[in-house]
Amino acid sequence: MRIVIVGASISGMMASVRWPDALLVEAGMPQSIAPVLASVFYAHQPVPGFATKPLRVTTKVLGRNKPRDYAEKVYQNRLLPVSMDSIVPEVQAWQWDFSAVMADLRASGAHRIRWNTKVVGVDWLHSYLHVMCGGTAEVIPYDHLITSAPMPVMLKLAEYSSNSTFPPFKSEPIWLRNIPGPEIGKLEDGHIEVTYCSDLDVLWYRRNQRGYNYEYEFTQRGYDKLGHEMRLGMVPLRPGKLQPHDHVLEIREWFKERSIHLVGRYAMWEHKWLSHQTWEQIAEMRL
Ligand SMILES: Cc1cc2nc3c(=O)[nH]c(=O)nc-3n(C[C@H](O)[C@H](O)[C@H](O)COP(=O)(O)OP(=O)(O)OC[C@H]3O[C@@H](n4cnc5c(N)ncnc54)[C@H](O)[C@@H]3O)c2cc1C
Repeated sequence: MRIVIVGASISGMMASVRWPDALLVEAGMPQSIAPVLASVFYAHQPVPGFATKPLRVTTKVLGRNKPRDYAEKVYQNRLLPVSMDSIVPEVQAWQWDFSAVMADLRASGAHRIRWNTKVVGVDWLHSYLHVMCGGTAEVIPYDHLITSAPMPVMLKLAEYSSNSTFPPFKSEPIWLRNIPGPEIGKLEDGHIEVTYCSDLDVLWYRRNQRGYNYEYEFTQRGYDKLGHEMRLGMVPLRPGKLQPHDHVLEIREWFKERSIHLVGRYAMWEHKWLSHQTWEQIAEMRL
């Protein structure tokens, strides 16, 4: 049975552990995936049988602390119900450790992972992926397709027939910038401090500190001294904020009937879906 997994980020890595004979197809390169994997995508529950490092997470809120301010800053004019009341100041968490999986994939080479290979079409009628690899078009056959690409991307790739009857999906990018922090207040290993900032005139909305390193997350753009728009963050954290949508269940079913299995938060288009739930989903999946 030929299993092909689309995406080698968190969900794709998990799927490759569950199906070690599958082929992973990833648009990015190892160096573009590594910062995403090393980001603070912690599990909110221990994950039995999977490599995770224990973490202590301290959460702080800066600014006027009004949930509505924060929601306006993050979601701009598309306000979603956001509550900052539920923020727990101190939690135990688990950081995914994919280093062994990554090393294994690198050692196995192209028969297990194809980097820099973008899926540009899904022919579900004949079970073929159309991909572009360094300017060369190829087809990759599959029996089952497991995909972590966001649902709106999948709809486009599969030329979902009733697409026009559904309202468009939206997804705002979040940009990440890593900068060295001040030489004070170094956190010990295994401790992350997450600070949410509700002030509208401060451009970052979330800051993660690990050791001396700070990681700022931006949803907004800034302007330089000449008024030119500029990106404040350097690395896009795909694919950004989820927008609510009414038809996810029927769309998931439509894909499943065609042996296309959606895994992870953005593929499932599930607002509160977290990475440990993704692993539970993958562990229970029967193809
Ligand atoms: C700022 C932020 C903080 C978060 N914090 C947490 C947290 O603490 N804990 C937690 O559990 N979750 C967190 N999440 C949610 C987290 O992002 C998801 O739970 C999930 O872990 C994301 O990983 P993924 O592999 O499913 O998706 P992605 O990381 O989006 O991976 C999809 C992959 O598919 C590839 N791809 C897409 N299209 C194609 C194509 N056409 N061809 C080939 N490859 C393609 C992309 O290059 C990408 O590598 C956070 C999200 C954000 C934005």
